[in-house]
Amino acid sequence: MNLFDLTANEILKKIQCSELKPSALKAAIIERNSLVNPKTNAFIRTPDAVTILNTDGDVLPVGIKDNICIKGHLTTCGSRILDGFRPPYDACVVEKLRGAGNVIFGGLNMDEFAFGSSCETSFYGPSRNPWDLSRVPGGSSGGSAAAVAAGQVVWALGSDTGGSIRQPASFCGIVGLKPTYGRVSRYGLIAFGSSLDQIGPLTKDVTDCALLLNVIGGFDPRDSTSMDVAVPDYTQALTKDVKGLRIGIPKEYFIDGIQPEVLTAVNKAIEVLKGQGALIVPLSLPHTEYAVATYYIVATAEASSNLARFDGVEFGLRAMPSVPRKSSLLDMYEETRAQGFGNEAKRRIMLGTYVLSSGYYEAYYLRAQKVRTLIKQDFDKAFNECDVIISPTSPTTSFKIGEKMDDPIAMYLSDIFTIPANLAGIPAISIPCGFDSASLPIGLQFMAKPFAEETVLRAAYAYEQATPWHERRAVL
Ligand code: GLN
Repeated sequence: MNLFDLTANEILKKIQCSELKPSALKAAIIERNSLVNPKTNAFIRTPDAVTILNTDGDVLPVGIKDNICIKGHLTTCGSRILDGFRPPYDACVVEKLRGAGNVIFGGLNMDEFAFGSSCETSFYGPSRNPWDLSRVPGGSSGGSAAAVAAGQVVWALGSDTGGSIRQPASFCGIVGLKPTYGRVSRYGLIAFGSSLDQIGPLTKDVTDCALLLNVIGGFDPRDSTSMDVAVPDYTQALTKDVKGLRIGIPKEYFIDGIQPEVLTAVNKAIEVLKGQGALIVPLSLPHTEYAVATYYIVATAEASSNLARFDGVEFGLRAMPSVPRKSSLLDMYEETRAQGFGNEAKRRIMLGTYVLSSGYYEAYYLRAQKVRTLIKQDFDKAFNECDVIISPTSPTTSFKIGEKMDDPIAMYLSDIFTIPANLAGIPAISIPCGFDSASLPIGLQFMAKPFAEETVLRAAYAYEQATPWHERRAVL
């Protein structure tokens, strides 16, 4: 096997018994990047140029999504408006990774400000899916997923506001976990929807996912929504034992419109788990149909207020109007935002400003918050009956670059199964569960109650170890 195909767990074992030198691994990764990044565009900037602050003990090349601050290094959220922005501090997760033997590679491509499901709204051009370069890697953490699947890094961090870790993991045939809201500090994550955003791992298998969550989880007083809940050793949950585990099957997640091969693969996965002794519990999450609409009100409202700070004064780009007489401060703001934001960002700022404006606030934003509570209560009730909920991660496998760019609603519907977990704040994982007839990966999602990451990892690991999907690598 190639060095760049190894998991973090395999690498650590090889290093421990002196079978592998960290320098050899780093060289292999850098060579791999110069070979395949021109194909995948997973990194916005040449990856070896942003390798930073190596110390001798640092071993594991970790990729960082371009919305997570790395002190002194370009962090642009895939947007022109942050062109030239170098954060004065490290995100909490970056501090933790540095302390745990990782070599930091920054600048993984993403949809602009994490707005999207395909990585096509990046100012720096789309990333491509390593399984088929004419297709999207998913989004918004498309660069993170593509980089892990292509062996450009050993593992990576992404952020997930409505599915941005899980959907790209599913499209690229890897594992992606959105932790419970409050599990991982958001300090140094450039905010999209502050009540929904979580940072999480994208890895080659479930073991790596548990290992990376061990590193990044935990309380941080600098994020007021971070929770002071002890971080267990998540690898302890990897027992292969799901006997008696109650797996809920929500009927609203098994509907017409899902690609038939996705449905078949997920149903087969349920059979595998049943064979391992899991108990199947049919259930209903009745407010699911309102989740996408609710999300696009709450998320755009929060985005419009978070993005108000980008006006040419403090961060990144500053553009002056070309007409010399027009040069008031307001004109500078306008020109900077007109030039700095792409179309999707502008659409979301307008939507979000609208739903928050006086006269509409009650009808849209306030109402959406109430529906959000109903969606959360659906899950609370469901978790009285089951331990973990299973579903497809996405209704389809990866689509062609350009296919959905002119149809925002079609793009938004790609997150129909991932959004509810963000609205409810619960942990959810996507793992590979097969391939379609075009040899594209299919993703399986598990969700559990708040801070039950161990339960999703346990179910995911038992399934993974009984199936071959995680062993396949994209050939580039
Ligand atoms: N695709 C969803 C959106 O466009 C979710 C993005 C995300 O999780 N950051 O908002």
